[in-house]
Amino acid sequence: MNLHEYQAREILERFGIPFPRGAVAATAQEAMAIAEQFAGPVMVKAQVHSGGRGKAGGVKLARNPAEAAAHASRIIGMTINDLPVQKVLVVPAAEIASESYLGVIVDRAAQRPVVMASAAGGIDIEDVASRTPERILRVPVDPRYGLLPHQATALGFGLYDDLAQVRAGAEIAQKLYAAFYAVGASLAEINPLVTTPDGRVVALDAKLVVDDNELMRHPEIAALRDLTAEAPSEQQARDHGLSFIPLAGSVGCCVNGAGLAMATMDLVKFYGGEPANFLDIGGSSNPEKVVAALQIITGDPRVRAILFNIFGGITRCDDVATGIVQATQQFPLTVPLVIRLTGTNEAEAVAILTKAGFSALTDMDDAVQRAVTLEG
Ligand code: GDP
Ligand code: MN
Repeated sequence: MNLHEYQAREILERFGIPFPRGAVAATAQEAMAIAEQFAGPVMVKAQVHSGGRGKAGGVKLARNPAEAAAHASRIIGMTINDLPVQKVLVVPAAEIASESYLGVIVDRAAQRPVVMASAAGGIDIEDVASRTPERILRVPVDPRYGLLPHQATALGFGLYDDLAQVRAGAEIAQKLYAAFYAVGASLAEINPLVTTPDGRVVALDAKLVVDDNELMRHPEIAALRDLTAEAPSEQQARDHGLSFIPLAGSVGCCVNGAGLAMATMDLVKFYGGEPANFLDIGGSSNPEKVVAALQIITGDPRVRAILFNIFGGITRCDDVATGIVQATQQFPLTVPLVIRLTGTNEAEAVAILTKAGFSALTDMDDAVQRAVTLEG
């Protein structure tokens, strides 16, 4: 689950990380009123579940309350990476001497949390990560002991030369790790962590992603979910009990079972295509789920072919076939559809599909190749 920056700030503040204190506005008037409470310039920042807000024009410096209102009225209502901005955070602007990066992720290769620090922080950190990864210091953490003082100090030295700043950076790294661990995050990030001209170390941005499987243990975090900030496809998927993750490709995949879904995506790539999504309709099938899945997939304008890959076990192939036929009666498909199904009630499924004018394949290899060809 994604949190907004203002929510992540509140949590990290509770762990002692220093942020300039601001407030959230849903209208230009509210943004102006907040800016009036602060003497100097403010930042007006889009609150949206997307990175790269600065590059998209969603983070603006305002020299006075009137400017804050003007920025807010432009930022509220804009979309960043297809997500609508409904609120802005208004905070006193900090003067920046340097921008660093500090983050914690769960690293699958290391099989443990890894704390990362880079003196080359700011909006180009992705470029740093891909072009000059040696500029990012990575410290794996044994979750039994947490981030140890000497590890935190090493991170501090990775960021700064000045000893007071090294100490401040080390302390913030320990607090960030503590927060990451306490809320069950899969990612906790401060970018930028800045130094001010008078030498203080201050966090200016916060990102927290909490593992959905932790939400049961953290009802106070679960309560922070902002349904209105999520892409409609994600809401729809959750409402229908589908596991859905949008991706950047153009082959829409509808599969039962996470393992088969992964294998299908691998095979799509193997044959030169790119999956548009991960979508698992789950074990127990009912036609409605299939209709919802097709609605979600066809709602993505990048999808140029749809691939069904169903291995009937508990999932009954005839239920899936019925769902496909129902869906295409409700909304005609505008892209080619390739269906592969095998297993429980396969013959019934083939009969249902044939009657409706569809053909079905039984071989996964054939089906994926065909979907990739048709999409091309
Ligand atoms: P992001 O682009 O979504 O990561 O949004 P950020 O909150 O990180 O802001 C992007 C950039 O705006 C930062 O890297 C800073 O360069 C700049 N910025 C953010 N807050 C401040 C501030 O208080 N003062 C100044 N001068 N610049 C800021
Ligand atoms: Mn940032």
